[in-house]
Amino acid sequence: MKTILVAGGAGYIGSHMVALLVERGYEVVVVDNLCTGHWQAVKGAKLRVGDVRDGAFLDSVFTEFKVDGVINFAAFSLVGESVTKPLKYYGNNVAGSQSMLSAMERHGVDKIVFSSTAATYGEPEKQPIEETDRTLPTNPYGESKLAIEGMLKWCHQAYNIGYAALRYFNAAGSNTDVCIGEDHGPETHLIPLVMKTALGQRATIGIFGEDYPTADGTCIRDYIHVRDLVEAHLLALEHLERGGESGVFNLGSGDGFSVKEIIDSARRITGREIPAIVEPRRAGDPSVLIASNQKAAEVLGWTPKRGLDEIIADAWTWHLNHPDGYGV
Ligand code: NAD
Repeated sequence: MKTILVAGGAGYIGSHMVALLVERGYEVVVVDNLCTGHWQAVKGAKLRVGDVRDGAFLDSVFTEFKVDGVINFAAFSLVGESVTKPLKYYGNNVAGSQSMLSAMERHGVDKIVFSSTAATYGEPEKQPIEETDRTLPTNPYGESKLAIEGMLKWCHQAYNIGYAALRYFNAAGSNTDVCIGEDHGPETHLIPLVMKTALGQRATIGIFGEDYPTADGTCIRDYIHVRDLVEAHLLALEHLERGGESGVFNLGSGDGFSVKEIIDSARRITGREIPAIVEPRRAGDPSVLIASNQKAAEVLGWTPKRGLDEIIADAWTWHLNHPDGYGV
């Protein structure tokens, strides 16, 4: 497999995917409309600016390049916004993936790795969460990703397109070798918000609720280094290339840290004060979300190599050197 099309490759996770593929000697073509991405994040790959919902645009890219496999990161992913604007999420996420799969079918491309999410589970029934557990999303974002997983399953059956739908838990960190990192606007993820507080760009970091049934009362989440995350995508592609079975895989560390533990670790690693204030709970936040990563280990041969300290240290390096993200 030589040429990989990365849709959404100018975004946070997509740009880290591009860096890994380039490092491993692949030819990479990025398709991105730059609605939330940054052209500066695309390093060592060809960038074609356009929308995945535009079939004629995708036809031109699949004609220009002999694509062997697709990795699709292109989506909207703000959970709160999806509740107030569900059609925006169905319109981009579901229609975008449908358009991509249609183009793949037209051009005979038969492998896709897809960014799914732990939000497909909704309120979990048990911990750690396994792929066979109930999926009952509590917001349109998670629902849109679950709909795409269904579309992948049926396209696999009808058109023999192999797929791996990867349900990410919380991705963070950066690739300090090629100077890329997380620059979302608006930012909603805990670790970059803590970094911005450490830099003094925010006065405080908010802790949403400290009365959850956890040891310190704050929510527990499973954090995964973005470099480990993208390594799993490459293993998934190679698995499909070998004719491996299509399906859904959790990508998490199998371990959890509370909001207070994240803030304490960030204080230790950055040496900054990081003032925190407790705010009311947010609706729909489960107290604990931890992945079982056993299936990814057994089927893909993937285990995360980087722990929380490395995640925070790499996030800090990025934020310290790029206080305005790609704006500098
Ligand atoms: P991001 O917003 O940084 O990247 C998304 C990229 O897709 C951007 O470059 C954007 O410009 C592009 N894009 C969006 N719609 C497009 C369209 N119609 N046509 C062409 N390009 C389009 O997001 P991210 O944090 O890198 O997340 C990547 C994927 O991973 C998303 O699908 C997201 O739902 C999923 N995900 C992320 C996390 C996380 O922790 N960041 C967790 C779970 C799932």
